[in-house]
Amino acid sequence: MEEVYLDNAATSRMKKEALDAMMPYFMDEFANPSSIHAMSRAPRAAVKKAREQIAGCINAEPGEIYFTSGGTESDNWALISGMEMQEKKGKHLIISTIEHHAILETSYYLEKRGFEVTRVKVDKDGIIDMAELEKAIRPDTVLISVMTANNEIGSIQPIAEIGKLAHDKGILFHTDAVQAFGHIPLDVKAMNVDMLSASGHKFGGPKGVGFLYVRKGIRLPPFMHGGEQEEGRRAGTTNVPGVVGMGVAAEISCKDMDAKNRKMTELRDHLIDRVLKEIPYSRLNGHRYKRLPSNADFSFEFIEGESMLMSLGMKKVYISTGSACASGSLDPSHVLLGIGLPHEIAHGSVRISIPEETTLEQIDYAVDCLKQTVETMRSLSPLYDDFIKSQRV
Ligand SMILES: *Cc1c(COP(=O)(O)O)cnc(C)c1O
Repeated sequence: MEEVYLDNAATSRMKKEALDAMMPYFMDEFANPSSIHAMSRAPRAAVKKAREQIAGCINAEPGEIYFTSGGTESDNWALISGMEMQEKKGKHLIISTIEHHAILETSYYLEKRGFEVTRVKVDKDGIIDMAELEKAIRPDTVLISVMTANNEIGSIQPIAEIGKLAHDKGILFHTDAVQAFGHIPLDVKAMNVDMLSASGHKFGGPKGVGFLYVRKGIRLPPFMHGGEQEEGRRAGTTNVPGVVGMGVAAEISCKDMDAKNRKMTELRDHLIDRVLKEIPYSRLNGHRYKRLPSNADFSFEFIEGESMLMSLGMKKVYISTGSACASGSLDPSHVLLGIGLPHEIAHGSVRISIPEETTLEQIDYAVDCLKQTVETMRSLSPLYDDFIKSQRV
């Protein structure tokens, strides 16, 4: 078996069409799209086209798309500038407990700067508790930010409902849609979203480029200061090749999404069914159905996620424990603790995120390896041994 890459939520392989579309803008059409001369025309037109391609995916207008360096910058911009802009009206921000670090860490930064933050719980399936959210709203709440789909457990939030609640109370609503854009259908109008973050490399575009959708009429102040690019809202010479690649990747990703997702869901469900049936003391994290078609996240009792990763790596199956950003630290993922898993179970968790081109054969190979690894590791575990003996009495 060749390498089986099942870590698509960490980053995706670029689409060939996206790479091809980028190439001319490094050498032949390298000019700065903000220049006045004739050579700036082609890159300027290419950036305009990318803005249209992206807006088209989410039912936005091209003028509502602002290019950034990626998901992290978009999240920082939406939260920091979104709070600063409304400082006189109120200083309270609401997020969920299972947000990506780009939101979570920014919320800690805002607290240090004198803002107040409430982090609303999710239920055991990783779906936000709407009653808790409503209770968290205060007269001085000015921004709510809840991710569209979680990067670890894939759970999809009731975004339209959250947006409606926010708007009924006159509160701005931002969503981190980095895992969702290009993977599930999104419509900023139907979802009642004011701001939305996405990142090129999560859907077959290049790394280091993303965008923030800002609804027309919201005067979000700039986060990067300097030139007049992006209507004066985001300074810095436009990353023309990056933006072009992201535009093409977006257009391809959003085409025939339903058909692609039916196939992905079948693969995912086959994987989930086999694991839960064939590996004892395993559990699926996240909602059984309200989850990304590409995501499966499991906990295996009596096992360490990191050792499982290493053992699978030797079989050329590449997966992840929790989120890539959290790995390297010994703390279990805040997302798994957020859905109520005890520490020892959270430690035995792995995330499998499936690229679109994956075959059934590859999935079956991965499950076989997973099963073998779990069996081997448990056979070496004194804890598991004690547990099995205690079950016999
Ligand atoms: C990857 C990711 C980000 C960060 O995006 P970058 O472009 O890598 O900075 C933010 N939020 C979520 C949910 C992500 O999965």
